[in-house]
Amino acid sequence: MLKDFKTTYLDKQTICEDTVSFNFEKPAHFEYQSGQFIELFLEHNPGVAYPFTLSSFPGEPYLTITTRMWSQSKFKIWLETLVPGQMVTMTGPWGNFVLEEGTENLSIFLAGGIGITPFRSMVKEAIDSEKNLPSSIFHSNKFSRTTPFKKEFEALLNRGVQLYYLMTQEGSERLSFAYINSKENITRDSRFYISGAPVFIDTLADDLVANGIQEKMIRVDSFSGY
Ligand SMILES: Cc1cc2nc3c(=O)[nH]c(=O)nc-3n(C[C@H](O)[C@H](O)[C@H](O)COP(=O)(O)OP(=O)(O)OC[C@H]3O[C@@H](n4cnc5c(N)ncnc54)[C@H](O)[C@@H]3O)c2cc1C
Repeated sequence: MLKDFKTTYLDKQTICEDTVSFNFEKPAHFEYQSGQFIELFLEHNPGVAYPFTLSSFPGEPYLTITTRMWSQSKFKIWLETLVPGQMVTMTGPWGNFVLEEGTENLSIFLAGGIGITPFRSMVKEAIDSEKNLPSSIFHSNKFSRTTPFKKEFEALLNRGVQLYYLMTQEGSERLSFAYINSKENITRDSRFYISGAPVFIDTLADDLVANGIQEKMIRVDSFSGY
């Protein structure tokens, strides 16, 4: 399987305020699982790589990463100025933040901000391949206008996906075990997937464990860098 490769930047789409998806050619033989990440190398400093979970799912024709563009970091400026056709270097796929076997039990996806990227991949893949994936997405974000994939997920509401949005700068409470428990029927077999900034993950995972969720039922995707 490919681990270190060059590929072509194709194009980008703004998906909500401050947030852009970048599409790259998917090399032949590149295989990945929803939830895995790639590393993208900064062109002028090949020693510096940034990890990005693929927001695309394996059945899609491109590799897509989705990120916040609200800063002027060297890396984000470079991303902004990519020209279609330009070659970039990636490694991957990496990581084990993937769906557990036996997805007939409820999967509870907990996303903080841009941490929603792996869940787009997992949920869209399940729907695309008609896999049974009873799932609930709880997405905590500051504002509705900066919430990635909101319209795309809302279109899936009649396909078995439950959606809960908590906009913390618009008066919503913080995401917690108590909130999840008030909305979903949590059982011993429910699986929890948490993705976002390290502080979001640590706080929520501690809260779940303090409320009796077994650690083995929790998987995390920690976006260090945020
Ligand atoms: C396994 C893994 C997967 C990852 N997947 C993703 C992914 O799918 N998408 C993604 O975006 N990142 C992802 N990251 C993080 C990514 O690699 C970068 O670290 C991140 O995008 C920050 O990039 P940057 O250094 O350009 O920082 P910046 O974009 O400059 O951000 C640095 C810090 O400043 C804050 N900040 C800067 N400007 C503002 C502002 N105006 N308002 C509020 N806060 C601000 C940011 O929130 C952050 O805390 C992942 C990390 C890991 C380890």
